[in-house]
Amino acid sequence: MFRKRFVQCLGILTPAILLAGTTPALAGGKKCTPRNDGDRTEKVRQAIHGGRAKNVILFLGDGMGDSEITIARNYHVGAAGRLTMDSLPLTGAYTTYAVQEGNPDLPEYVTDSAASGTGWATGYKTSNGRISSVAGSTGVAPYTTILELAQAAGYKTGNVSTAELTDATPAVLASHINARGCQGPTNMSSCAVYKKLNGGPGSIAEQLVDHKVDVLLGGGKGRFDQIIDGGPYAGKSVVDSAIAQGYTVVTDASALATVKPGQRVLGLFNSGNMSLEWTGELAQPFPGSGPQTCVEDQRPANEPSLADMTSKALELLDRKGKSAKGFFLQVEGASIDKQDHASNPCGQIGENIAFDKAIAVGLAYAKKNPDTLVIVTADHAHTSQIIDPVPSNQTDHPGAFSVLITADGAEMTVNYGTEPPGSSQSHTGSQLRIAAQGPQAANVVGVTDQTELFHTMARALGLE
Ligand SMILES: [Zn+2]
Repeated sequence: MFRKRFVQCLGILTPAILLAGTTPALAGGKKCTPRNDGDRTEKVRQAIHGGRAKNVILFLGDGMGDSEITIARNYHVGAAGRLTMDSLPLTGAYTTYAVQEGNPDLPEYVTDSAASGTGWATGYKTSNGRISSVAGSTGVAPYTTILELAQAAGYKTGNVSTAELTDATPAVLASHINARGCQGPTNMSSCAVYKKLNGGPGSIAEQLVDHKVDVLLGGGKGRFDQIIDGGPYAGKSVVDSAIAQGYTVVTDASALATVKPGQRVLGLFNSGNMSLEWTGELAQPFPGSGPQTCVEDQRPANEPSLADMTSKALELLDRKGKSAKGFFLQVEGASIDKQDHASNPCGQIGENIAFDKAIAVGLAYAKKNPDTLVIVTADHAHTSQIIDPVPSNQTDHPGAFSVLITADGAEMTVNYGTEPPGSSQSHTGSQLRIAAQGPQAANVVGVTDQTELFHTMARALGLE
């Protein structure tokens, strides 16, 4: 019944345990005991570098809390295995709360991606739903972003996501608006003062293009096909305004592959969010769904993977030569969050593994270019939890759940319980992992707040 990937625990015995003479107990659990790497003091010391980075790559797993990472690890490489994202040498935790729109002096303990993104992109807390704009403000009230600072200082810039490019995480880097829903020129009912017709900077799609970000890759073509209502490109679509401003626009993986360095590129690979990598049964109320293994490789070939988009972005942004200015690149694994909302464990895990593969591309680049600060983190915690097996008589078990057969060949029960089954599940308020390598990476160690990430990246690029 088990598939070929069934490996059981991959851990091995440590000499310390052998020496301790505990051999009679080894038969039970020895395969599941991870390798002990010994004294890591010198390795950690060697990983600490101050000073400047040439490049910054920020990998942002949307909704990728500790439970989501653990679920993906258990399923894909087994409990004693390690993901690529687990390999970064310096790790800390960071807090993510937002502030209240009606009283910005009070915290909002559960953040969304807009307020969270504003925190790490600008260094300031805002309220849920706001895109790099001031909580409680009624006019156009922007906070300057790390991408804008980097661009002004001569760095190249890139913004990559598996969501619509106008979704909150990519939006916070190069647009400012009071409501995250104002994604295209005809989605502006909550954002009147920002409308181009009213002399504002326009929707998120318009602002991303008008900012002339060098590399924009993701979904959301439907937003960019909308017609602009004011300013120099009134009557044109956002795509046409992009072409008029020097962008090469591509809409499938093969066209993306042909883009050459030196071209500003807008890649729109789906009318909405990009397609999922994996599918499977949704979590269900008692008796739950599964036991199941996920159906992998479901993304249509005309849509590039997140790893492919990352690789292309790096090729386009890379500048050779020690004295050349580098780049700032953000890469978002967006649908970890979206499939957590949907109580879809296989969808969620597939997106988390796709994100991990994109991180591997970034780390390979950093290996050749060690003056690159690489950060891997998330924006808010989420619903899914690994729970004890649900007994067959527990018909009143709360929430929805699914049993997955992991790479260990064991059953893992994943629960979705922040909302009633069938409803969109909710974000949660826990602190998150932040891991890094390269110049300034030591600043993620300990417990920080996500607004400090802005300063870490700004310092690395010599922007503050
Ligand atoms: Zn969400």
